Amino acid sequence: MCEYDRLKNSTFRTFLMVALTCVAAEGHAVAERFAFERHMMGTSVEVIVWSPDGDASEKAVERAYAEIERIEKKLSVRKKDSRITEINQWAGTKPVKVDDEMYRLIRESKRFSEMSGGAFDISVQGLGDIWDFTRPGFREPGPDRVKKGLKRVDYRKIRLNEGDSTVFLEEGGMEISLGGIAKGYAVDRAVGILRESGIKGGIVSAGGDLLAFGRKGNGEVWKVGVRNPRDHKKNICVLPVSNLSVATSGDYERYRMIDGKRVHHIIDPRTGYPSTGCMSATVVAKGAMTADALATAVFVLGPEAGLALLEALPGVEGILVDSDGKTSASKGLAGFSERSLKEKPDRLDSHQKHNESIN
Ligand code: ADP
Ligand code: MG
Repeated sequence: MCEYDRLKNSTFRTFLMVALTCVAAEGHAVAERFAFERHMMGTSVEVIVWSPDGDASEKAVERAYAEIERIEKKLSVRKKDSRITEINQWAGTKPVKVDDEMYRLIRESKRFSEMSGGAFDISVQGLGDIWDFTRPGFREPGPDRVKKGLKRVDYRKIRLNEGDSTVFLEEGGMEISLGGIAKGYAVDRAVGILRESGIKGGIVSAGGDLLAFGRKGNGEVWKVGVRNPRDHKKNICVLPVSNLSVATSGDYERYRMIDGKRVHHIIDPRTGYPSTGCMSATVVAKGAMTADALATAVFVLGPEAGLALLEALPGVEGILVDSDGKTSASKGLAGFSERSLKEKPDRLDSHQKHNESIN
């Protein structure tokens, strides 16, 4: 269903460019800006670091990419021998033992389901490919198919047993996919590796879901532009961030117009149809996995319930564009969009397809 699941070992394009040089105070090493890009997880994964040591930063970035690759392989629902596939295969039959990491990811996913009243639900995968508009001959599924598929969607039927670290899908035919948090999780892990490697400031962005840590070499915070979902050349606001993640879920990148209707990749698990409440939902949070999952949840919930969820969560803010194109923001960002547009986000040349323009 999702592009992430359709991971191909596409050309691992890496480029390294020294775009800016920042001369620190006399006697200190010179910090430079290095930018890298690779196609992974069905999208473009960009890494920017500021560092005085080009070789060391390249090695650190290499380790960060290796970690993303590991996660991509592990979480794929397409791979026949992956644990996720095994969990799905044994749905309704028996629990499957998983390692700590997988257990935590599924437990966290359930937590996001609980806090969003089921708007985020990894068992939406149980609808199968009925909304996969990329497959040849795709036609909108009839209500009966949607109704039938919905019987297999219910996060409460994902049973976790901490004692023996197992996952059991209670209904036969149920399926889960971690596509809704995989990019965010990978970004968190990649940033962890960069930090451990001594990098003081940088950004990791997977298709626009990003975590910006530390500061730029010149001491400035990062500026992230949030795109207007109906005019990609415009931003609706520019957010100054440091040690924060920004993630956007939208209906404007992966969609197809069918009989005048926009069919996109985020499904409302309560109806079984692509959600209709928002054009885009951007969430700012400490971690990228949280921001990624909550962006999907808020997008599905729509402006009213979505904003209420953001307000209820400490340390989380967001900006939504509703189905009429009206923008609203959580209290912490109120009035921000107007003011912030005076700021100019710096952007990567190659960063045209994604939700955020970054520096
Ligand atoms: P976006 O970047 O637009 O948020 P993601 O790739 O992060 O997109 O998430 C979309 C993927 O999440 C889908 O391809 C699907 O696998 C999964 N998904 C779709 N709807 C939901 C939902 N309501 N809850 C959880 N996961 C979902
Ligand atoms: Mg997302």
